[in-house]
Amino acid sequence: MDWSERVDEDTEADLIGWRRYMHERPELSFEEFETTKYVAAMLEEWGIPYDRPMPTGLVAHVHGKHPGPIVAYRCDLDALPIEEQNTFEFRSRTAGKMHACGHDGHTAILLGLARTLNDLRDEIHGEVRLLFQPAEEVTESGARHLIEAGALEGVDAVIGLHLISSIETGLISLTKGPIMAAADTFEITVRGKGGHGGYPHEAIDPLMIAAGLVGQLQTLVSRRVSPMDPAVVSVGSFHAGSAPNIIPGTATLTGTVRTLSEKVRAKIAADLTAMAESYALAHGGIAEVKYGWGSPACANDGPLVDFLLPAAAGAVGSSSVVSLPPEMGGEDFAYYAKVAPTAFALVGSGNKDLESDFPHHHPRFTVDERALGIGLRFMLESVERTSSGQAELPVR
Ligand SMILES: [Zn+2]
Ligand SMILES: [Zn+2]
Repeated sequence: MDWSERVDEDTEADLIGWRRYMHERPELSFEEFETTKYVAAMLEEWGIPYDRPMPTGLVAHVHGKHPGPIVAYRCDLDALPIEEQNTFEFRSRTAGKMHACGHDGHTAILLGLARTLNDLRDEIHGEVRLLFQPAEEVTESGARHLIEAGALEGVDAVIGLHLISSIETGLISLTKGPIMAAADTFEITVRGKGGHGGYPHEAIDPLMIAAGLVGQLQTLVSRRVSPMDPAVVSVGSFHAGSAPNIIPGTATLTGTVRTLSEKVRAKIAADLTAMAESYALAHGGIAEVKYGWGSPACANDGPLVDFLLPAAAGAVGSSSVVSLPPEMGGEDFAYYAKVAPTAFALVGSGNKDLESDFPHHHPRFTVDERALGIGLRFMLESVERTSSGQAELPVR
């Protein structure tokens, strides 16, 4: 019997129940204390050992009966600072916080995986390590912290998934190579000389310099990076001034940089800094640039993807396995690739009839809950590939 056949109606009902419980109780990055307790209580009930390398989140260990590889499966626990606009009964009970990315679903799926694998221990080779990771949504990155805390020690591969509203429920995307962008941030403070709005020649107007920079920064992509290399520079905030007749002393811009290759990433970071500094200088001001290195580009290991394609086909049928092109969103799962080969699947949860096709991070975001069972089937099929001793895990 395929392991995914263990996902029956009762299992699916449990997944939905757990997801709704967590959906009602969203917690922000690094604050997932109640969610961690909820997960821990279930693991204890099932007798699955776990440790707590960080204040929130946990790492569970399903030790197989036979020797074999250590393969990590990951979910993320955190919600977002968004006021939920859904009206269903299990909507967020906390003002200003919402599971608007589907991480409640990911956590429910990993709980389902934990319980099912616990019953299959006699057939498991090696260890299946379950990463209930905190803080995916912030630059500070829970993944990076888990790695630094040693939670990935000895791991031979890391596998994860994301429910995704942009593709229909029933589809799974597994793509080789880059799938998500490096997500960096920048803050540019332009310093001029404040003064009277009627006497601009006696001041140095930082607002004019910053406004010019908003346009200039676009040439980083259009004139300095090959059109064959995807890159985005977006200014997201512009703050300056306090009154119509005052030239302010400073203006501040913040924004994000998205790239798929380390080479382009390094070039834009260097060029952005040089451009802001010299542009401000040319207009009599000074620019201070803080470049914030976020999560790197998320790329799937080719051999591992090939190895897992039968698992995806086992979950949804081979005609429903697709390969989406990379997107410019960020995902801190990328850090795990520094430790071991990784594969990250996108599991469709979009359904027009259920209105579960709003974009991620939208106040009306939700998932088609049929995708929870599909996600669990994919993970179980994957564990059967990686950890049942039937096939040899590709190693880097
Ligand atoms: Zn998100
Ligand atoms: Zn997410």
